[in-house]
Amino acid sequence: MSTPAAPAPAPAPATAECQLIQGRPIAQRIQADLKTEIEQLRAQNVALKLVAVMVGENAGSTVYVNQQRKLADSMGIAYELMQLPGTSTEADVIQVVERLNADPAVTGVILQQPMPQQIAIRNIIEKLNPAKDAEGMHPNSLGHVLMGDAHVAPCTASAVMEILAAQGMNLYGKEVVIVGHSDIVGKPLTLMMLNKFGTTTTCHIATSQAHKLQDHLATAEVVVVAVGVARLIKGEWLRPGTVLIDVGINKVGDQIVGDADFESCKLKCAAITPVPGGVGPLTNTMLMKNLVALARAAHH
Ligand code: NAD
Repeated sequence: MSTPAAPAPAPAPATAECQLIQGRPIAQRIQADLKTEIEQLRAQNVALKLVAVMVGENAGSTVYVNQQRKLADSMGIAYELMQLPGTSTEADVIQVVERLNADPAVTGVILQQPMPQQIAIRNIIEKLNPAKDAEGMHPNSLGHVLMGDAHVAPCTASAVMEILAAQGMNLYGKEVVIVGHSDIVGKPLTLMMLNKFGTTTTCHIATSQAHKLQDHLATAEVVVVAVGVARLIKGEWLRPGTVLIDVGINKVGDQIVGDADFESCKLKCAAITPVPGGVGPLTNTMLMKNLVALARAAHH
């Protein structure tokens, strides 16, 4: 009697489909809600005006300013660019900020970065009236982020929170790893996610140097990476089913890539943001959201 043939090996489980999270439709939805709020404010005689302060010439900043103006126009928000010479001193810029603080028509101010070397942006931000802090970068705004009762928060960190909310992600009890601890993204985001009861771990350069980054990522259910190192995060480091938000913008040759190695990560993730097209399209919308929130806070 011949021995029965060994059963055929079970087929490998199909890789679950990884969802690509596009930022633009989320941004458009938020813009539509904001437009309604802006109309309600206008009915109460509250007009919004955003002023961007730019010191010197910078191709990147010019692109941002043009995008901001276009979005502001489309939402019925007045927008003005104050361009100062590249030789301006800190005192010159502070003088402009103080003028904007005193102007009742100006409801929000952006300090366009980078500024020339002779200007420490921190010294300027501290002079801005927190009630006009459209970028959510004033220490007063950041203090409220810490306490969990902020009107405004840094735009990119807010963009990440909006994406997770749009995903229906409940952070309560989730293992969250944030890679990057900058003042504008990683640190405020850690606090914002902690305020939602995520179990947050913030990794940074020292985590990598101590060879511990992969250990943290291995248990993460949500990963946000904001580092500025092209394709740093590899799929094989991730737990299957991770939701990965990639904030990074890196130029590699003539390509823009994120901080995650997209091709290997998408094989492991339940959902992932592409670069470009993920977080980026939401940042300016968050600026407008902050502007509306400031106006609401001032007139409620
Ligand atoms: P940053 O440059 O101020 O700080 C970098 C952070 O990454 C630090 O915490 C540093 O310790 C950490 N880091 C550096 N190398 C690392 C490594 N090998 N391993 C682990 N951690 C490491 O950061 P930023 O200003 O928050 O910018 C981060 C990235 O996000 C950049 O690519 C930037 O262009 C991008 N960014 C995108 C948007 C957007 O709208 N999408 C907005 C802001 C920043």
